[in-house]
Amino acid sequence: MRYYTVEINGREAVAVSTDGKELYLLPQAADMNELIRSGGIRTIPEDAVKLESGSAVRILSPIPRPAQDVLCLGINYAAHAVEADRFSSEAFGGERPYPIFFSKRVNYSQGTGAGIPSYPDLVDSLDYECELGVIIGKDAKNVAREDAAEYVFGYTIVNDVSARNLQTRHKQWYFGKSLDGFTPMGPCIVSADEFAFPPQLGISCLVNGEVRQDSNTGYLIAGIAEIISILSEGMTLQAGTIIATGTPSGVGMGMTPPSFLKAGDVVECRIEGIGSLQNTIC
Ligand code: MG
Repeated sequence: MRYYTVEINGREAVAVSTDGKELYLLPQAADMNELIRSGGIRTIPEDAVKLESGSAVRILSPIPRPAQDVLCLGINYAAHAVEADRFSSEAFGGERPYPIFFSKRVNYSQGTGAGIPSYPDLVDSLDYECELGVIIGKDAKNVAREDAAEYVFGYTIVNDVSARNLQTRHKQWYFGKSLDGFTPMGPCIVSADEFAFPPQLGISCLVNGEVRQDSNTGYLIAGIAEIISILSEGMTLQAGTIIATGTPSGVGMGMTPPSFLKAGDVVECRIEGIGSLQNTIC
């Protein structure tokens, strides 16, 4: 099942689709967070309302207002570790026997087609990070790795937009990752049962049509089961928690010389089986 949050007649609503083409509004679901907590649906319910083609519907982020900060993995693809260390050894180098966790504040997540603000007076090194987003489906505490798959509601695409100058200047990554508009997601959540576990999906990012990132989620250093198991040991991951699993190599700070985003650039994040998240820098 594919889960969407849409705007129709100025109101937000939850919609579902089995094929990504025909969407059905779910009149009984208040929002995506509630739908996740209820466990989602397996089939299109009879009271769902089919959206006619041509109706004025805008696809939003599947979770426009996350209930909590988004949990993130840092340096979780080997080739990205090399390029990040080259950009700033102080910020990104060193030994990492355990996964790096951080979080980002998301007051509002915008969806595909929306802009990403560039903050020209504050940010001189705006960068993209295409990532597989894991959505937790039920409260998780002390979850063994072999049981982790049961706790995954589904997957989406996250662009972990980053201001490299703020990320390195403040030592802690939180601020440079948390500016308003720095967490586009979408276009939908694809339910976990649509993929094998762990999902091994092509993941890529294009800037103005040029392929910058091209990898596979099978190359995660800390896999999804390990992430859920480690984090849930002592910390409840509530239903609706979003985990951004880290980005592959090919970000702007990894280029020689580094190349950052500017107003007018179009960033497209793609993950096989989920779709495309496209945003223009403004
Ligand atoms: Mg990231």
